[in-house]
Amino acid sequence: MTDAYDNDNIFAKILRGEIPCHKIYEDEHTFAFMDIMPRGDGHCLVIPKMPARNLLDADIETLGVVQATVKKIGTAVMKAFSADGLTVQQFNEPAGGQVVFHLHVHVIPRFDGVKLRPHTGDMEKPEILAENAEKISAALK
Ligand code: AMP
Repeated sequence: MTDAYDNDNIFAKILRGEIPCHKIYEDEHTFAFMDIMPRGDGHCLVIPKMPARNLLDADIETLGVVQATVKKIGTAVMKAFSADGLTVQQFNEPAGGQVVFHLHVHVIPRFDGVKLRPHTGDMEKPEILAENAEKISAALK
């Protein structure tokens, strides 16, 4: 049994517009924005608008709409950064590596020979995040 969804988690606050983010995309059910501590250039996150703590409590419909947006954003990220590959990650509960308790999927462009930086490592400069968000948004068009 996992804990209940906390309405005051940081991604819920981003969805409500209470704290800023570098937005890339949104539709009726999902939202995508830049990870502030990227493991690689162009690292972004896809989240559902519906409250879900993680994969374990999310309903199938929520997982489906999130995965559809992961495909869309992943394709745009590959194009925007001329990437060689794509890493998609999703963590569940503290023991599974989860730090923020609103379901989210990491989408990280990869380049031959370039290792991932540490998870929740250094903060990226806001101007770089803004530039990368713009690049990915442009590749969606
Ligand atoms: P995890 O729950 O383990 O998947 O990790 C949470 C992820 O959210 C990490 O990659 C953080 O860098 C990222 N993160 C935390 N706070 C924010 C924020 N305010 N805006 C964007 N990304 C964030």
